[in-house]
Amino acid sequence: KIRQIAIYGKGGIGKSTTTQNLTAGLAEQGKKVIVVGCDPKADSTRLLLGGLAQKTVLDTLREKGQDFDLNSIVKVGFKGIRCVESGGPEPGVGCAGRGIITSIGLLERMGAYTEDLDYVFYDVLGDVVCGGFAMPIREGKAKEIYIVASGEMMSLYAANNISKGIQRYALKGGVRLGGIICNSRNVDREIELLRAFAKELGTQLIHFIPRDNIVQHAEIRRKTVIEYKPESKQAEEYRILAKKIEENKLFVVPKPMEPEDLEKILVEYGLYDTVESNYAI
Ligand code: ADP
Ligand code: SF4
Ligand code: MG
Repeated sequence: KIRQIAIYGKGGIGKSTTTQNLTAGLAEQGKKVIVVGCDPKADSTRLLLGGLAQKTVLDTLREKGQDFDLNSIVKVGFKGIRCVESGGPEPGVGCAGRGIITSIGLLERMGAYTEDLDYVFYDVLGDVVCGGFAMPIREGKAKEIYIVASGEMMSLYAANNISKGIQRYALKGGVRLGGIICNSRNVDREIELLRAFAKELGTQLIHFIPRDNIVQHAEIRRKTVIEYKPESKQAEEYRILAKKIEENKLFVVPKPMEPEDLEKILVEYGLYDTVESNYAI
């Protein structure tokens, strides 16, 4: 049975980097994975493919109608990971979220989700969970969600909003939150803050990924850290995350925080010391 996983989180938080590195970790363990980029930027598979995918699903559909085969939209990357970019509507026209569902529907009909797959990963833009970007959750395409966040306030607001989206569709579609992935921004007491936040939502901080410049070194070479420096500490962190996801048993309907309560824990873990020391000067 294929595990259908979606990675959500604020733009720029590290969804694509984390998804590609963790799927590289799964592929190293012999798992069969397909990564479906659901961001109109179409940069969800660049590190696995050693460059941008040539054609997105929606571009191909626009150019060729239904007259193309799977090979023109599914590319094989690092350790056999299958890579797809959904792409977006023409700027200013149509709903990007709708486009994602069109792409996923097409992939299903064309037989991209073969029986031998262990995982499908959707890398979904999630600043706002508008009706569009909640589609993969709403339509039951993704059953298991991980939210990438950091100790920065806006990323936690986004994470909280995403949880609201999950809660809304959990009863009907059976979608569950599997955990919060902290992609560190080196914020003071970040790990404690993220643990407290995860606990409030009723979920877990599944792993803490350190911020490390090796990510940029790999990125410039169009590689995951796992491919670029397999023996590095950062590569090991991504492998640990992969293993934790592989073994995860905690799937919950999240309880989103009230804005006042979210602010309270931000002050408690993040801002308190800063405020104190400012007054001390
Ligand atoms: P998203 O997909 O959420 O928009 P990306 O994965 O594209 O975000 O990440 C944005 C940038 O952050 C990337 O270009 C990458 O260089 C950087 N980045 C992500 N994770 C880390 C990390 N753990 N350490 C250092 N830089 C990171
Ligand atoms: Fe864009 Fe979301 Fe509106 Fe669709 S629902 S057009 S994705 S803002
Ligand atoms: Mg991205």
